[in-house]
Amino acid sequence: MVVLILLEGVLFVAAIVALAALFVWGLLRFTPLGTRWRQAANRRQIDEQADLICPIHGLQAPGSLVRLSSGEPFCSQCYQETSYGQLDR
Ligand SMILES: [Zn+2]
Repeated sequence: MVVLILLEGVLFVAAIVALAALFVWGLLRFTPLGTRWRQAANRRQIDEQADLICPIHGLQAPGSLVRLSSGEPFCSQCYQETSYGQLDR
């Protein structure tokens, strides 16, 4: 009997979660809000890819970048050349 009560509670919560997921999916798929959200996601993706391209050394792996004290990522080779003067090793 206790198992049935617990099962009913779990199924009720699962039904609420499923309905909420369906509501969010419909909101993002069929309304202008979803288009705005996808456009913002596209902008974020392009900005993140642009941060990985050094104008001198080209595309860099995200793990090889150096984070400056100001908070922005920087090409590690440019950082080494600028800081320690070891040009184009
Ligand atoms: Zn560079």
